[in-house]
Amino acid sequence: MNITEDNNKRLKDIQKIEGISDKDMAVLLKPVRINRSTLSIKGKKYPAWRILYNEALGPGKGGIRFHPGVNEDEVKSLAFWMTLKNSLADIPYGGAKGGVAFNPKVASKAELEEVSRKFIDVFYKVLGQDKDIPAPDVYTDGQIMSWMLDEFEKKTGRHEPGMITGKPVELGGIALRGDATAQGGYLVTKKMAAAFLAGKKNVKVAVQGFGNAGLFMAQKLHKDGFKVVAVSDSKGGIYQVTGLNIPSLIAFKKAGHPVGDFSSGKQITNAELLELSVDILVLAALENQITKQNAENIKANYLIELANGPITYDADRILAKNKKIVVPDILANSGGVIVSYFEWAQNRTGQILDEDYLRKLLEKKMKDNWQRMYDLWKEKKEKVTLRQAAYILAVTKVIVAEKLRGRIKG
Ligand code: GLU
Repeated sequence: MNITEDNNKRLKDIQKIEGISDKDMAVLLKPVRINRSTLSIKGKKYPAWRILYNEALGPGKGGIRFHPGVNEDEVKSLAFWMTLKNSLADIPYGGAKGGVAFNPKVASKAELEEVSRKFIDVFYKVLGQDKDIPAPDVYTDGQIMSWMLDEFEKKTGRHEPGMITGKPVELGGIALRGDATAQGGYLVTKKMAAAFLAGKKNVKVAVQGFGNAGLFMAQKLHKDGFKVVAVSDSKGGIYQVTGLNIPSLIAFKKAGHPVGDFSSGKQITNAELLELSVDILVLAALENQITKQNAENIKANYLIELANGPITYDADRILAKNKKIVVPDILANSGGVIVSYFEWAQNRTGQILDEDYLRKLLEKKMKDNWQRMYDLWKEKKEKVTLRQAAYILAVTKVIVAEKLRGRIKG
């Protein structure tokens, strides 16, 4: 499956709806710069990328993914989504992404460190606090950011904590970053529930993915009275119609067990989880989970894209036909990069930002961004999808910035 083709189709639709010219849209059809390399470590070779998609709104920003399935089409698409996400979030960044086709789950700590440092060795010239700023993504974390920062500073001979975000607090990170993606997703889910599910009790939720995003999301929804009936990780899932004991399940997962082995509930596959009869389906795993093969079988009326790109273009159309509401990734998972922006701002200015203030600011930003998307959707008489409303806002802003810079003439 080619994700770039899907994204281009989405842009074509936006172009038609808004009457955007080919010349204007051209700036979003391809990345500004693709950097490719191969990391050679103890006789093994791992393809690696850092792709800057657009930098009209500011320096590149986006995470680095370590996963055996990483490829150029995926990294390019993730960088494209970062461009739109940062634009919609109203933070002064362009979009970028990095990735290494490498499985950290079977690597030793020493190998993990070597891959992290090598990544910086090959790409450090295109990175920097005013150029392009990485962060964690799938299977990367604060420790990996720390090695990367250290290697970057070794190479450049000066301290520059703002060159990377998602760092541990000891190296200039902020505690809020840990569950920020889930917190942002939770806040928009609340807005979505207020708009569409007001007064409904016992709202049933299934969460696909139990990593940094899915685990905290399940925790927050459970705490708030949502009934989380199913969760899954890469090995499979667990389902209990009366609601899972999420705190025990988190402890179980943190002890190193797959969620499917949890004592109470029925084991299910990831594919089965997606088709459960629930109100809200949270997609917090990887891209291409809902495709034209299973879209007709989706029973949840509300879908939250906490992962990037979990629904394909064809699936989007089927879901829209079936009147399903999809809260798009570029809004739903933007809490992570918004808090990255707070961290970067603190690193650059040296000013200490109060955590309570930042928590409130994140909340305000998520709610405002939801509202802008929702208002446009209403303005368009609900004839577009929420994703299309979000894309219209994000795409328009990038094009305006390109024009202000004089890069699109006429
Ligand atoms: N990897 C996250 C995302 O996809 C966060 C990126 C960042 O903080 O720069 O949005």
